[in-house]
This record gives sequence, structure tokens and C-alpha cells, in this order.
Amino acid sequence: MTCFECGGEIIRKTTSFIMYDTDHKPVLFEDVEAGECTQCGEKYLDGHTVEKIEKILEGGASGSTREIKVPVISLAA
Ligand SMILES: [Zn+2]
Repeated sequence: MTCFECGGEIIRKTTSFIMYDTDHKPVLFEDVEAGECTQCGEKYLDGHTVEKIEKILEGGASGSTREIKVPVISLAA
């Protein structure tokens, strides 16, 4: 499989990333099995992983047992 963005090689990786739930609250997903482009870093999720994530986001991440604080930086002059 090659990257749709740049044609680079896709490798399987366990990764983490932030998504937003239906209330626009950020949710950090850990230990996500995904493909990642070795050139541009574009991530590719499996269909069943996307379904799982969508279900969790719709439920407001109610199964969460931990929270993190995220720094906020404004670039406004
Ligand atoms: Zn790429």
C-alpha cells in the first residue's frame, strides 16, 4: 500500500491522536493500530477502527478512566 498524498510507503504502527466528540471536546485515543506514511506522516485507519472511534465519540467518551491537561497557545498578535 502506498500513500494517497505523496506515494510514500505505508507502515503499520501503534499510534495515538486527538479527535473531537460531538460536543467538540477533545478525546485522546491511545494504542490505535493504524497505517502511517513514512514520508509525510499521513495516518490511515481501518474501517472497523473508524467505526469504533465514532461510537466512542458519539457516547462522549464515557468509558474513559483517565484525563490529561492540554496546553493551549494562541498565535493571535
Ligand atoms: Zn505520504
